[in-house]
Parts: sequence; structure tokens; C-alpha cells
Amino acid sequence: MDVKAMKDRLLELVSVFEDKESELTELDRAIGDGDHGVNMVRGFKALPDHIDDSSMQNLFKSTGMTLMSNIGGASGPLYGFSFVKMSQVVEDDIDNENVKALLQAFSEAIAQRGKVSLNEKTMYDVIERANEAVRNGEKVDMEKLQSFANATKDIEATKGRASYFKADSVGFVDPGAQSSVYILNALIGED
Ligand code: ADP
Ligand code: MG
Repeated sequence: MDVKAMKDRLLELVSVFEDKESELTELDRAIGDGDHGVNMVRGFKALPDHIDDSSMQNLFKSTGMTLMSNIGGASGPLYGFSFVKMSQVVEDDIDNENVKALLQAFSEAIAQRGKVSLNEKTMYDVIERANEAVRNGEKVDMEKLQSFANATKDIEATKGRASYFKADSVGFVDPGAQSSVYILNALIGED
């Protein structure tokens, strides 16, 4: 995938998050403060004005900087930092082999910035499981990504705002896990 194709995929996320805004709002209303839908729409709506497609590295870096200063909440710095970290490893043409380093960087960035590990009921659960699956050469389609997000339902949150809900957080999909399904689908999904 070249820089133009990846740019199109990132810009498509503007309408994806507009479509999914109320879904993410509902999820964050259950175990947070209800702003995750609005946050993601605001972040991606800023993208067309700030995205730099002069190289794949600049595409990821400009996306990261834009998300960092426009999403807000806990998720803004996490997604923003991840794209900046991915920009340091991404190659000009993303293929099945070098995409592994890209996802590894995504996962490591969240782990580092969020001080999070698996099964804490966050976006990291989806991102790290997608990373593992891609590393193992498995096909990671929308259905598989959604299954990773759905698995956060049974977990009690121990990170972020959802952790204040303690046992009451069980039974709901984590909002950031759900938004990361769409971001990962843009990065690695098939057309
Ligand atoms: P806020 O919690 O500040 O309102 P958002 O609603 O935009 O921010 O994002 C919430 C999401 O951020 C959660 O659903 C979770 O996936 C993610 N999150 C929060 N804290 C962490 C963390 N320490 N590590 C990884 N992800 C986190
Ligand atoms: Mg929130």
C-alpha cells in the first residue's frame, strides 16, 4: 500500500467515526463520561486540514500530531503518540511483512504511554491481539477485530475512567477497544 492509498484510508475514518459516534458515546456513557464518540469525531475531522502526504513517514507523523491535539481525553494522547511512534518504523510501501513492525510499534506505544497490559479492558486488548495475530500470519479482518473488542465485555476495568466503575464495568465493551477496531481496520483491513 502506497502513501496515497493509506491517506485515503485514514481520511475515510472521518465518516466511519461520524457513523459510529453514537455507538461510541453509548459505550462511554456506560463505563465512562460519554465523550469518546465526540472525541474521535473531533480528532479525525481535523485530519483533512493537517495531513501531510509528502511521505509515508510524514503521513503517520502528521496524523499523530493532529490526533494528539484534537481528540482529547485519555485516548487522544494514546492514539496520537502511537501514530508518531509508527511513523518512525513505517516504510514507503506497506506490505504483509513490514506491517508487522508497524503493529508492533502501535502496541508498544500504547503499552508504554498507557502503562497498560492485556486484560485491563482497554484499547490495548484489541491492538495487542491484532499485533499478535498479524505477527503469526493470521488474517485479521473486521470480524476478528470485533471479536477482540467483544472480549473486553467480560473484563473488569483496571485502567482509565472505567476502573472507577469496578465490578460494574463488567458487561460492557470498552469504548476505546471499539474505536481501535476501526483504526486497525483502516491500517490492516482488506479493501
Ligand atoms: P476519557 O476516559 O478521558 O474520557 P476517552 O473517553 O476518549 O477518554 O477514552 C477512553 C478510552 O481510553 C478507554 O475506553 C480506554 O480504551 C482508553 N484508555 C484509558 N486509559 C488507558 C490506559 N491507561 N491505557 C490504555 N488505554 C486507556
Ligand atoms: Mg470518555
